[in-house]
Amino acid sequence: MKIITSIEEQKEYCSSIEAEGNNISLIPTMGNLHSGHESLLLLSRSTKNKRIVSLFVNPLQFDSISDYRSYPSSIDSDIEILERNKVDCLFMPDENQMIENINHPETIHLPQYMSILCGKHRKGHFDGVFKIVKKLFKIINPSIAYFGKKDYQQLMMVRHIAKEYFGNRIEIVAGDTVRESNGLAMSSRNNRLSLTDKKIASSVHKELIIMRESINLGSNNQELLKKSIDALSDKYIKIEYLELLSSVDFSIISKKNADNAMLFVAFYISGVRLIDNIDV
Ligand code: AMP
Repeated sequence: MKIITSIEEQKEYCSSIEAEGNNISLIPTMGNLHSGHESLLLLSRSTKNKRIVSLFVNPLQFDSISDYRSYPSSIDSDIEILERNKVDCLFMPDENQMIENINHPETIHLPQYMSILCGKHRKGHFDGVFKIVKKLFKIINPSIAYFGKKDYQQLMMVRHIAKEYFGNRIEIVAGDTVRESNGLAMSSRNNRLSLTDKKIASSVHKELIIMRESINLGSNNQELLKKSIDALSDKYIKIEYLELLSSVDFSIISKKNADNAMLFVAFYISGVRLIDNIDV
């Protein structure tokens, strides 16, 4: 596997792939790879494209320096996982090069629905993701890019970027959320939790499943959401948001049973912020 840290070298490598008549698949990550990331690697094996994984912990998307600094890193095991999955190239850009010129005032017009859920609670987060994803797409010029549904709002924003800035030339493929056996969605942030924390955190996913059953049986959505927030909130878990929205445009689902409904949750446990969602 080729490992590249310079943006210029990465552009040259991508041009040479295209000159040979090959297309590129991109799987962007922030490293500390787990089975969730590996599922995207597996998905990306279904084409003949050259596969490039980017590993960049994007400082622009963190709302606190301490959260950024404590983001877990495991480069050696990441490289081992990528080699085992026969990835062609790892792009690990130098931070200064990646951030250079990027913070110049740029008016970012994100769709209205990006200002709810994580957009509401993490000011500037999606602006930071937007800038880096757009820059990665420009450097790599992929024909396909893979993203996880776990970060559903991010997935919707990436689709917006592909449409508005790249004329839909980049196909965005979404991967299902991979979970621990107890239902907890895999996340690099889980590494900061104790075994007990993880067990407690899994109760949130279990509650989402129970909620789905109640919604499908026709219970009052708003009352149910309030009841579930109360049931989950205790000295360990602090719910940031729990909402039932349309997966198409994030509008509130007020009808008892609606197509494309999705439950979205963000919560804190032991100072770690986790998100999850399920189709209803
Ligand atoms: P991250 O390294 O956390 O930025 O994630 C890189 C990509 O992996 C993103 O597209 C995520 O949505 C995706 N991802 C993260 N966790 C999971 C998971 N548990 N299952 C599937 N995809 C995931």
